[in-house]
Amino acid sequence: MAGVFWYDGQWFTEEPKILGPMDHAFWLGSVIFDGARAIEGWAPDLDRHCARAIRSAHVMGMKPSVTAERIQELCEEGIRRMGAGATLYVRPMFFIRRGLGAARPDPDSTDFILSLYDAPMPEWAGFSAMLTPFRRPATDMAPTDAKAACLYPNGSRATAWAVERGANMAVMSDVAGNIAEFASSNLWFVKDGVAITPAVNHTFLNGITRQRVIRLLAEAGIPVEERAVRPEELEAADEIFSTGNYGKVQPCTRYNGRDLPIGPVTTKARDLYFAWMRSQPRVVEPQPAKIPAA
Ligand code: PMP
Repeated sequence: MAGVFWYDGQWFTEEPKILGPMDHAFWLGSVIFDGARAIEGWAPDLDRHCARAIRSAHVMGMKPSVTAERIQELCEEGIRRMGAGATLYVRPMFFIRRGLGAARPDPDSTDFILSLYDAPMPEWAGFSAMLTPFRRPATDMAPTDAKAACLYPNGSRATAWAVERGANMAVMSDVAGNIAEFASSNLWFVKDGVAITPAVNHTFLNGITRQRVIRLLAEAGIPVEERAVRPEELEAADEIFSTGNYGKVQPCTRYNGRDLPIGPVTTKARDLYFAWMRSQPRVVEPQPAKIPAA
């Protein structure tokens, strides 16, 4: 996989090997990351992804060694290095090297690495999902307000549960039994023309794509509701879709064994997203085709 990596002031084209057995991040998972994308030169909401990386680091008690602005500059440089045609995953990470004891990661040893690598957009084909018995932890059970690596094994357990039962994606609820999100993207459903997504209660990520789609749908005159969602409501949904940085907007075409169409609101959300993205300045412009001299 082609990629570029920035670590300790240098660019690499091979993954730098940076962790050892004494690193707290490796031992006990003191890691945060963010995930942005570059799509043919555009990097939608890159500034917000960089700002969230800093916020996540603070939630974890880290001392980030670079600012959000510097992360953004580095991401933009990496995107230029990979070229205007590239479609990339852009992943800044902060991690802690040393512990003052197992339960006391040393904030002064916060380190940073940025990875950018080829990651084609998923097909617009539809995925199947199931409600799983796995829940997002409450705010006093885990650092739920951070995009922390330690939150992901629970999502992986939920996904494995769904995959064993023939679906591709897991739906997770919150501790109150309301619908929270998919294991790694936000959840939406449509009923009678209204686009509904669980209201933020800090137990799941208030996705940057989610926030962008809320705004775009509302501006296009489609009613949007952010509220508590009961599991029964998904059983009766007209459409279900996900939003997240990786796949942007993706249709769910089977939920708990019931087939669903790729409906008009889902398609509209995707079209609005990409139209908005293309209205933004590109980080890197495509090279004009070279016209051979006559
Ligand atoms: N929830 C989880 C658990 C995620 O990992 C992601 C992907 N970052 C999302 C939601 C969607 O967030 P965003 O739109 O900011 O990528």
